[in-house]
Amino acid sequence: MMMNVPLNISTMLERAEMFFPTKQVVSRMKRGIVRHTYKEIGERTRRLASVLTSLGVSVGDRVGTFAWNHHRHLEAYFAIPGIGAVLHTINIRLSPQHIAYIINHADDRVLLIDDDLLPAIEAVKDNIPNVRAFIIMTDEAELPETTLSPVYHYEKLLEQGDPKFPFKKDLDEYEPAGMCYTSATTGNPKGVVYTHRSTVLHSMALGLADTLGLSEKDVAMPVVPMFHVNAWGIPFAATWFGTTLVMPGPAFTPKVLAELIETEKVTVTAGVPTIWLGLLQELEKGNYDVSSLTRIVCGGSAAPKGVIRVFEEKYNIPFIHAYGMTETSPLVLVSRLKSYQQDLSYEEQLELRAKQGILVPGLEMKVIGKDGEVRWDGKEMGELCLRGPWIAAEYYNDDRTREAFRDGWLHTGDVVNVDEEGFVKIVDRTKDVIKSGGEWISSVDLENALMAHEAVFEAAVVAVPHPKWQERPIACVVLKEGKTVTKEELYDFLRPQFTKWWLPDDIVFMKEIPKTSVGKFLKRKLREELQNYYSS
Ligand code: ADP
Repeated sequence: MMMNVPLNISTMLERAEMFFPTKQVVSRMKRGIVRHTYKEIGERTRRLASVLTSLGVSVGDRVGTFAWNHHRHLEAYFAIPGIGAVLHTINIRLSPQHIAYIINHADDRVLLIDDDLLPAIEAVKDNIPNVRAFIIMTDEAELPETTLSPVYHYEKLLEQGDPKFPFKKDLDEYEPAGMCYTSATTGNPKGVVYTHRSTVLHSMALGLADTLGLSEKDVAMPVVPMFHVNAWGIPFAATWFGTTLVMPGPAFTPKVLAELIETEKVTVTAGVPTIWLGLLQELEKGNYDVSSLTRIVCGGSAAPKGVIRVFEEKYNIPFIHAYGMTETSPLVLVSRLKSYQQDLSYEEQLELRAKQGILVPGLEMKVIGKDGEVRWDGKEMGELCLRGPWIAAEYYNDDRTREAFRDGWLHTGDVVNVDEEGFVKIVDRTKDVIKSGGEWISSVDLENALMAHEAVFEAAVVAVPHPKWQERPIACVVLKEGKTVTKEELYDFLRPQFTKWWLPDDIVFMKEIPKTSVGKFLKRKLREELQNYYSS
């Protein structure tokens, strides 16, 4: 028999303190770039843990964070689970109703808030009666004016804290450590509770060579927000491995990202496709040296093939497509070629790598179609179902648990096919797939094809109700700055790639595609705008 040693998040920071005390966490803050070593981060985290304890936070209490990506947020990532409390990362872009809803639903006792984000919490202060303390994470010496009460100054509190405060060790590994709510395009957000065990195992998975391969040698810049599935777990794993972390801080732009990559020599960065579309535009404008990058990790929505191609062919940066969701911590699928696929032509390789990839070690999957499990033929479609130690078993206090969690599996709501090699391709969200005359049209495939056109910046394809066919696709297209193209030219471009009935009934040019709070195309809004297309 082996030892029964519970997995505990604090051991990850302790390893960084012990073996990588001089390695750095770099944050871009309002006052400029600030650098902390892991030794300093360790001491500051212990101070925060001791201060939270004095404020009355105890095992199982929820502590909310409302913040950008920076060192203070990282300290909260370890201090809160470090005392057995639960880190609830709140999405700063939710509506005021949803912000109040999740603070109350999670029953947050203390909130850690960035100073520039104060107005969003002030706006809901009368509706969150159970919050006992507001800690403002400000760069200034004094607290900003605020209507919140009682308020504390993060840095002043830390001065009173104990830099040697011990983390709580006698915790069951199944104890809750973190919480995240889905961004909810319909209904209230749904809460997912991560445990010490799930977080540590998920972090380990991020270090595998065939997944993200995160290592001590990397300089990692999570662009994905720390409130979006814990920045995909990168802050936890990077700290554990002693990886240099670069945090882009408040209100960053593509220019800021390009500059940070150049000056900090970032080797790996991660975010949703809209971030990379923005960065590409910036790279085309400026003269940046981004040669330090050894990979870009892209997930959250389908990575358009055209984007993968430009990053790789023009900038020589390998582009790794991955898939996951809030319910899955998130890492589930990563698209990396197998050794014997390296000889395929670039086009064939691209075809595979634009899929979401194969299952990471540690998880189980099955795909359920109309007649049970689908054939792995790259065609038959079904719903992806998942099981594993970092997959949620339920939603937190929510009746909707029954819809998604059945028979010991998470039913993802993603329609996929699987090819002979096991590469999963997300065909669509169940709610986004276009049902035309009893057949399914993948909005994602059409979008990818459109975004591969050199004049197209963004494209979203949605279903509109149709009197005869039930639904038909309409494409919404945003052009690149200074580029022009006609509808007919776009149809000419699409025609050779799709059967006739797949082609959108119309192509509507727009200035901007509305986005969700985590930067995905907000198709619900487009559907609403276009729903009377055939009836008006
Ligand atoms: P939210 O549900 O809050 O928008 P999530 O990040 O949890 O945020 O969303 C998960 C969903 O995002 C998945 O179920 C899937 O539909 C989509 N998704 C994630 N990664 C990819 C990807 N690489 N390609 C296509 N869709 C993806």
